Amino acid sequence: MTGIASIPVRELRGVGPKLAAKLADYGVHQVEDLLFHLPLRYQDRTRVTPIAGAREGADLVIEGEVRAADVVMGRRRSLVARIQDSTGTLTLRFFHFSAAQKSGLRAGTRLRCFGQVRRGSSGLEMFHPEYRSLQGEDEPAEEALTPIYPTTTGIGQNQWRMLCSQALARLRRHPPRDLLPPGHNPYDLARALEYLHAPPPDAPQALLREGQHPAQQRLALEELVAHNLSLQRLRNAQRAEGAPALADRPGELAAFLASLPFAPTAAQRRVLAEIAGDLARPVPMLRLVQGDVGSGKTLVAAGAALQSVANDYQVAIMAPTEILAEQHWASFSTWFGPLAVPMEWLSGRTKGKKREAALQRIASGEAALVIGTHALFQQDVAFKRLGLVIVDEQHRFGVHQRLALTGKTGPGQGKPHQLVMTATPIPRTLSMVAYADLDCSVIDELPPGRQPVTTVLIDNGRRDQVVERVAAACGQGRQAYWVCTLIEESDALQAQAAQATAEELQLALPELRIGLIHGRMKPADKESVMAAFKAGDLALLVATTVIEVGVDVPNASLMIIENPERLGLAQLHQLRGRVGRGRDASHCVLLYQAPLSASGRERLAALRDSTDGFYIAEKDLELRGPGEVLGTRQTGLMEFRIAQLPAHSHLLDQVQVISRIILEHHGELAGALIQRWTGAKQEFGNV
Ligand code: ADP
Ligand code: MG
Repeated sequence: MTGIASIPVRELRGVGPKLAAKLADYGVHQVEDLLFHLPLRYQDRTRVTPIAGAREGADLVIEGEVRAADVVMGRRRSLVARIQDSTGTLTLRFFHFSAAQKSGLRAGTRLRCFGQVRRGSSGLEMFHPEYRSLQGEDEPAEEALTPIYPTTTGIGQNQWRMLCSQALARLRRHPPRDLLPPGHNPYDLARALEYLHAPPPDAPQALLREGQHPAQQRLALEELVAHNLSLQRLRNAQRAEGAPALADRPGELAAFLASLPFAPTAAQRRVLAEIAGDLARPVPMLRLVQGDVGSGKTLVAAGAALQSVANDYQVAIMAPTEILAEQHWASFSTWFGPLAVPMEWLSGRTKGKKREAALQRIASGEAALVIGTHALFQQDVAFKRLGLVIVDEQHRFGVHQRLALTGKTGPGQGKPHQLVMTATPIPRTLSMVAYADLDCSVIDELPPGRQPVTTVLIDNGRRDQVVERVAAACGQGRQAYWVCTLIEESDALQAQAAQATAEELQLALPELRIGLIHGRMKPADKESVMAAFKAGDLALLVATTVIEVGVDVPNASLMIIENPERLGLAQLHQLRGRVGRGRDASHCVLLYQAPLSASGRERLAALRDSTDGFYIAEKDLELRGPGEVLGTRQTGLMEFRIAQLPAHSHLLDQVQVISRIILEHHGELAGALIQRWTGAKQEFGNV
């Protein structure tokens, strides 16, 4: 029997070279690939609804006779047809139409239409319904729910349906290979595929919408197993390359810690010890450190860096923004200055001769500790002996960027160790899926003396009161942030908005020293504004979200966030983490624009009611989904075909078990599973 995995799509009716090429862009080469191109949702076209029963907002099939059709000149020219059945009449409206279409809608023609019912100027209407004319009296309605496939331009829904129904016809003769190990398959694969491409009219639609039908769970389980295996494979490939063993240096570490003005927390000590143990092994460390904002991750990074430098291996520290990298530069200069560790700076703005000189010192090994931004993983950056890579605020980087940097040791030296730090606590369920290739440490304790930030929601209509509050706080010698948000990605627009706000506030508060910081400023200007704020020379800092991560000014105890409803929860939590770092009780004002959407209200309320990063992350996952939470939408990491999080979290324990069984007893299944589910993406993972 031929497997359906070896029948090319070209064999299907209607697939010429052009369509085959478009399908290949989708990663669809064999007929089996079509079967795993799963519908996003379904429409019910199995029943014809009497016109009198049509309700606004519903997707319906109706049938009737055209009474009249005319081109109407309103605000927009449109073709309007009135159709009637034995129970009532309804209007079809087309803004784009051809002459042929107009003449096809002659009075007396019987039509079957599918579309959404809306309220228009003539009562209930359908805009641009799909329709066809009926010849006989009783043409049967659709026998199954109609699948809606994921697509971009180039391949239409009807084409996908035509292709998938042909694939289904072949499925019966050539069932796909079952890749789950014996005893761990809860539902027959062929039956699941058939069900999901063509669910029967009485299928439980609510269950399907939530992804909880047993057929969906069966495929989600397989997809999650495939994803897990591909991450493990990535991890094993990295480990197989080996790494320099960086011997533990307890004496140096103790001396360093003793030089600090504070004692590390128990959690920091625990994580430092975990890292020290990893680094000492000749296998690359792949460790994710999660710690809420202000938990002191930088210190942990410093301990790790020290161990590498003491073993004469270079360290690269990469931060997502220039401001944050600059702050690390400041911290490490203070801490390592007395130890005379040669440090180097490299960001996108390091240009020309300066850049050449920096690259030279990195390549020669003269620079022991290199701090910078994305610029660190450009092609021409070569290290002599890179022992450790530290990536701060991981959620801002995609996985492929992380891998690009670790390709950077010289040949024959293995891989550098990797430490990834994130302040966005990642829900456990999600990290099991997204970071199965990493070990995790959690700094679950804040340094002593921190006070939780009190958060309030205030309508922008009461902006004047908020401005007074800022004046009062600053009058008492406190410092405040005023954060301007914009949805637009554009730095220029964000900068403009912040500028306007700073001017407005300066007019309202002429006696206050107000600073402005945004992403479009020259680094030197940014630096001097930050320094002035840190030194207390500025009372109020108006900023864009560039200050989101890392910025550390303990005397700042009030933060106003404008239009917080535009941001995700994790980002708001990050921003708020800029206050509550000192001894004063701190406050955060969420100055929202009314009216709030239901989910906007829920997000802001979650933030008001909790300062627990893990709780907030779970909420964020629930409200926005994993792609947004991880910020990895572009990397394709979390783009599952059928699995959904958190809807399928309950499958994750089973995923672990099955993956282990496959790796231990059925190794040959792993490659086939990865190929089936991640196909094209896998090449990308191997960069
Ligand atoms: P984050 O985890 O958000 O990156 P940082 O590393 O920036 O936090 O630390 C926040 C602040 O807390 C810094 O000013 C840092 O010097 C200070 N800090 C770190 N560890 C301790 C500690 N154990 N005791 C007191 N202060 C600490
Ligand atoms: Mg930090």
